[in-house]
Amino acid sequence: MKFKTIILASILSISTFVISYKYRDLNHNFANTKEVQDIETSLILVNKENPLDSSYKPSNLVKPNIPFVDSANDDEKFMKSDSARAVEELFNSAEQEGIKLLGMSAYRSYDSQKNIYYNRIRHVGKIEADRYVAKPGKSEHQTGLAIDVTNKGRWFVKSTEEAQWLSENAHNYGFIIRYPENKEDITGVAYEPWHIRYVGKETAKKIYENKITFEEFIENK
Ligand SMILES: [Zn+2]
Repeated sequence: MKFKTIILASILSISTFVISYKYRDLNHNFANTKEVQDIETSLILVNKENPLDSSYKPSNLVKPNIPFVDSANDDEKFMKSDSARAVEELFNSAEQEGIKLLGMSAYRSYDSQKNIYYNRIRHVGKIEADRYVAKPGKSEHQTGLAIDVTNKGRWFVKSTEEAQWLSENAHNYGFIIRYPENKEDITGVAYEPWHIRYVGKETAKKIYENKITFEEFIENK
């Protein structure tokens, strides 16, 4: 009888181990999502492992008072109010320093992201599309906290004065360069000097000073 109990206990503990090992990644991701599950906070983590629901639309979307490129889609000119005010402050300061920034695309609904993704696949194929365009639900643009900016020449690469100004100053206004260079293995997205994400001044400063990604910040919070 005693022997049987030992065998039974062993089987139970082995299967518990096997099950928890099998689901370790799921648990990890769940923990991550849970930590930021208040989706109205500016610290929500959205990436390939932490998608937003297709029905999620942020509350208090407003149109920031900044110049947009002529081709900007009217539906994509909105941001959550805190980030909208912050981006206005950022654009104004840039202008005072002789840097002219333009908005391209801010909030994108799940459906709008879906269209962008499938259009991109049609143009450049799936592999290349996956490097730059998030799948629907996995884009930060759905949070209303992110905006893609550009310059007059619509050539926003690292070497331009606008991109340099943005990388050195965005944190002072609560924004981070969300997909930095050489961090693709962590963020899952190629370097995008034009995509800024609002996280609030305190967090932005920490991320900037420690040269870390938002994923690393959340992980070590
Ligand atoms: Zn973007």
